Amino acid sequence: MVYRAVWTFKRISRIELAAKTGLHPATITHIVDELVTESLLKESGSAEISIGRPALQLEINPEIAYVVGVNVTRDSVSAALIDLSGQVSQEVSFGGLQVRNDNKYLINRLAQSIEIILEDAIQAGRNVIGIGIGAPERDYLTSRLVSVSPSGENHEQTLSEVISERFDLPVVVDHNSNTLALDLQYFGEIAGVSNFVLLRHGFGVGGSVVINHEIYYGSHPTSSQFGHLTVDNNGEKCWCGNFGCLELYASVPAILARAALDLGLPTSTLTVEQVAAAYKAGHIAMVATIQNVSKYISFAVITIVNTLAPDAVFIGGALGSLAPIFAQLVQENIEGRIYPTLRNQIPVIGTSQAAGPVRGAAMLIIRNIINTASLDFPTTADRKQSSKAG
Ligand SMILES: [Zn+2]
Repeated sequence: MVYRAVWTFKRISRIELAAKTGLHPATITHIVDELVTESLLKESGSAEISIGRPALQLEINPEIAYVVGVNVTRDSVSAALIDLSGQVSQEVSFGGLQVRNDNKYLINRLAQSIEIILEDAIQAGRNVIGIGIGAPERDYLTSRLVSVSPSGENHEQTLSEVISERFDLPVVVDHNSNTLALDLQYFGEIAGVSNFVLLRHGFGVGGSVVINHEIYYGSHPTSSQFGHLTVDNNGEKCWCGNFGCLELYASVPAILARAALDLGLPTSTLTVEQVAAAYKAGHIAMVATIQNVSKYISFAVITIVNTLAPDAVFIGGALGSLAPIFAQLVQENIEGRIYPTLRNQIPVIGTSQAAGPVRGAAMLIIRNIINTASLDFPTTADRKQSSKAG
């Protein structure tokens, strides 16, 4: 509880800690002393000097452990080293991949990117305690992929088994809608709220629901499929079997196809940033296109908000500068239509956090440390011994 409070408030005095946690100041002193001795917390300069005794500020020691965060999309793999405070210190990226069609290729690229990060980390004497991976398809979480063992045999293993075995580290894999939600939960504009919903626009439209600070997983590996909410009763058939699904109108390819059609351009030449720029410049066709798409997103958001009454709704993913534009339009669209007592209560926030996906993947590991204060890293004792010896 003490460690989590310090992590959350970043810089906090012992007196403030007692107030935030409800623990007796003597208990705080005892626990803090222990955590400082263990190098998990560190004290920094006095923020104020009261009579006699300076109020030392406590911070977590972010460098006591590091996590490799990896984000896999349909055509890229990115990896970075992240310290316990969420600071991203290195990043490598491989683009232009067709990961979906070739698992062996994916695993090799994934392993290669992790290897680069780990080698640098080990050379710099960093203590790496795990690997968090955000993956684009729910298949990666559940199905058994074929990997090739060092002896050349084919093995059927899950992605986390393959990577864990190769690097001898704990590995957690989750859908990258959830890793983006984790990043918002810990580092977003309104980090720390209890309940929120993320709509993640990419190749399709996915999402994540956070209830009481926890990601909602449902009973099947397909929760939060906001892309398949019906937003047009008379709409076209979706691949899922339903008609008029949100992602037919609001996935990134659907938005670009619609915008290209309205501009009389081939789809392949258009990017979300060009569409956003044209909208901001007041291009009449683009304003109409974006407003039209925002209506479909709004229909979904009204249903979600009326169902869950969350603290906030985030719109993000691969929308770039379109994310805040859609957020503002959706906010305007929903106010007159959501349940009366919810009006003007629920901010719709566009998010395009660059570090989000890899940092959120690292949080798959780091959240366990914060939430359970399970601080016995396998290598911590070794580090302490070597630092004492040094
Ligand atoms: Zn559908």
